[in-house]
Amino acid sequence: MGLQAFLSRRIVTPEGVRQGAVLVDGERIRAVVPQDAVPADASREDFGNAALLPGLVDSHVHINEPGRTDWEGFYTATRAAAAGGCTMLVDMPLNSIPATTNVAALEAKRKAAQGQCRVDWAAWGGVVPGNQEKIAPLAQAGVLGYKCFLVPSGVAEFTMVRESDLRAALPHVARTGLPLLVHAELPEFLCGSETREDDWSSYSTYLRSRPDRAEVAAIEFMLSLCREYGFRLHIVHLATGLALDMLQAARAEGLPVTVETCPHYLHLEAETIADNATQCKCAPPIRSHANRERLWRGLRDGVIDMVVTDHSPCPPAMKCMGAGNFDSAWGGIAGLSLALPIVWTEAQRRGFALTDVARWMAEEPARLAGCDARKGRLAAGYDADFVVFDPEAEITVTTDRLPHRHPVSPYLGEKVQGVVRTTYLRGTVVFQDGEFPGEPAGREFRA
Ligand SMILES: [Zn+2]
Repeated sequence: MGLQAFLSRRIVTPEGVRQGAVLVDGERIRAVVPQDAVPADASREDFGNAALLPGLVDSHVHINEPGRTDWEGFYTATRAAAAGGCTMLVDMPLNSIPATTNVAALEAKRKAAQGQCRVDWAAWGGVVPGNQEKIAPLAQAGVLGYKCFLVPSGVAEFTMVRESDLRAALPHVARTGLPLLVHAELPEFLCGSETREDDWSSYSTYLRSRPDRAEVAAIEFMLSLCREYGFRLHIVHLATGLALDMLQAARAEGLPVTVETCPHYLHLEAETIADNATQCKCAPPIRSHANRERLWRGLRDGVIDMVVTDHSPCPPAMKCMGAGNFDSAWGGIAGLSLALPIVWTEAQRRGFALTDVARWMAEEPARLAGCDARKGRLAAGYDADFVVFDPEAEITVTTDRLPHRHPVSPYLGEKVQGVVRTTYLRGTVVFQDGEFPGEPAGREFRA
């Protein structure tokens, strides 16, 4: 493959949107240049008015393989990613069997991924009670950071941590320099069906069972540990806007804390979730309309750094789709293939630009995962990962837009703005107009 030039009137670079050409030499970007500076020997592809964005980096994905491949797997998750304009996934350590809490489990995951991936990927390791001696070896073996739960994770193989477990683990985490991603809810504030006999077909019952204060108290607790141990703290799937002031103050204080939220919290609202609509169940829950607007303010103010999917599918039967019981249904929303249009639909209404979306969905997650020298930007030296995106086109979501294993989605039937036309991984097309050409060529990202 010789020099390739990809032309567009809207190339989304960290410095702004510009007309130009992305010059690709092999798997890397050589430069972003004006269109009249394209060398004569380069092959040319002109996308006209379609936007060119960096390939999205999704640092919060549950691939579930090996062990729960009937929920999702490398083959289907990476197809959904490619269809969604995402070129790098970081896999959560739970739901796979074994859970990624030691090096042998990481090796089992690598073996399972072999030859199946349409985009690049990497692994988070797990912090669970008693595995503190595995933390440094996991870093040496190539995980990009760690994840822990302060509440039950939903699967028996991945145990939640208490304060004493964290105190045993945090010195090891801090020494690696890698981030600790925390599911921030505290169990003492949750009230499940054992304490409430309400109508669990109603979304409001579920919402009341996981109140804002469970998140706020957990974040406060983690910030105090961050102050004490000096590790990099990352709050996953922030769902409450009531923690934003505290997080902003922690930043001002100089604590190394970063924050993500997810497309479903930025798009859906509790007031319009129907009874039995368990496709909308996730934890923490989708909260009120007013809260959703607070999260958007958090993005505007820069307190929330990034938007990632928390793509977490399961077999449809586990969503209790017929019975619609919010107590027994699995909590998790599958959103990989639609994250970009969902976020763009909401962002453009609020006056945000494609540069904001690229920062939230590519640049900042890449920084969190430590792959920001090669992923997340359209700039010289970076991997030639990019998305051809039509920001004005509208589509109605149908199951053929859901290439993950089970086409369950809260977005079915919705009209959204923005269509991913083509996705390039390291200079090669991996998705185009509903098709996945070529053999799976994704590989593990190693720092
Ligand atoms: Zn998750």
